[in-house]
Amino acid sequence: MISTILIIGGGQAGAQAIDTLRREGFGGRIVLIGDEPELPYQRPPLSKKYLSGEMAADRLLFRHRSFYDEHRIELKLGQRAVRLDAQARQVALADGETLSYDRLLLCLGAASRRLTCPGADLAGVHYLRGIADVGAIQAGLKPLARVVIIGGGYIGLETAATGIKMGCEVTVLEMADRIMNRVVAPSVSTYFSDEHASHGVRIHCDTRVVGLEGAGRVERVVCADGKSHAADLIVVGVGAVAATDIASAAGLACDNGIVVDEHCRTSDAAIFAAGDCTNHPSPHYGRRMRLESVDNAFEQAKTAALNMLDRPTVHDRVPWFWSDQFDNKLLIVGLSQDHDRQIVRGDPASRSFSVCYLKGRELLAVEAINHSKDYMAARKLIAERTLLNPEKIADGNCALKEAV
Ligand SMILES: Cc1cc2nc3c(=O)[nH]c(=O)nc-3n(C[C@H](O)[C@H](O)[C@H](O)COP(=O)(O)OP(=O)(O)OC[C@H]3O[C@@H](n4cnc5c(N)ncnc54)[C@H](O)[C@@H]3O)c2cc1C
Repeated sequence: MISTILIIGGGQAGAQAIDTLRREGFGGRIVLIGDEPELPYQRPPLSKKYLSGEMAADRLLFRHRSFYDEHRIELKLGQRAVRLDAQARQVALADGETLSYDRLLLCLGAASRRLTCPGADLAGVHYLRGIADVGAIQAGLKPLARVVIIGGGYIGLETAATGIKMGCEVTVLEMADRIMNRVVAPSVSTYFSDEHASHGVRIHCDTRVVGLEGAGRVERVVCADGKSHAADLIVVGVGAVAATDIASAAGLACDNGIVVDEHCRTSDAAIFAAGDCTNHPSPHYGRRMRLESVDNAFEQAKTAALNMLDRPTVHDRVPWFWSDQFDNKLLIVGLSQDHDRQIVRGDPASRSFSVCYLKGRELLAVEAINHSKDYMAARKLIAERTLLNPEKIADGNCALKEAV
């Protein structure tokens, strides 16, 4: 009988798992262990409206304290789980307490990848992962402050857009030849580069940071091409690494994430994992992957919760992501790897277009820029593996859902 479920990690996945467990009628003991002191909260606004001050902290929370009380959730917040003994089915916390479980769910998330160049530990160098990171960044986003963002991915670019809105001088340094190069088509990178430039963000691609300099506090960023960029504040957004420390130390299989099966079960039958920390199979795409997205954490947590209650459920979602930069909404559905054809629908100059990726006649992924109709249609077409007509796709006047 399952009487105690422990959840480690009070982020998106941890919060969702609690919800599903109680909704599905689990009446036993649930303990949530989280090393952040806050109640579980949403991270996406941290680089968007919360950073700009347009959203209050209260609105970040998934649930207020009363929800956890009413649902008899034992909260151990501000507490790090430091050791997992899978054989004894016990978890040790930093304060010395040991908790036993029948089922354990690891929702450990990911940690910001750190710079390793000289000067990386100077004051004024920031990372953006949790609410605790925001205050210092916000304090530095003053009018005319020289803000250098290292990394032209989602978080870096969203922070750049917010910084400009707050009156800063913003420079983005990107090592690759274009921004968001791992996640979007060249035409989408170009569109967003132009958007940033038109708002005053300076973007330098093909630019590798080799050092940070300053007397105690960062004053400039030095690049491999010999150029340097004056900085009052630096925000580093160079990706994230799956948090696997306690899992790998306990002997669970880990490989760019905690390895789980399609039921979100780890290599130990009593331990499950969900969210950014997992390396999971995608039946739809026929390969393993690690994703960092709200939708993935939400859906995997639901699946893991059901399987922990011995209700066999398979996680097989077509992933989707979003990013907000200025007044643009980028929506991405599916994974474009393995495509053999790319079709742009609509004219980027109209500020509403999409890029479709096909393999043969099957749609693999769509990047929709201010075009929620194409995004919505693509979700269904991709999930159902509908075969499409490329000529109709290319015709911007034909609705994507009609391009069969
Ligand atoms: C600034 C920012 C903006 C983002 N914007 C978007 C967006 O626009 N769209 C989108 O889809 N996604 C976005 N994401 C990604 C999204 O927030 C994550 O994919 C999602 O939060 C993952 O949920 P999770 O539960 O797996 O991990 P998290 O939400 O990171 O939660 C993991 C929790 O576990 C805790 N933890 C780790 N180890 C331990 C331990 N040993 N003991 C106790 N606690 C532990 C961590 O401190 C953390 O609180 C953004 C992320 C960030 C940081």
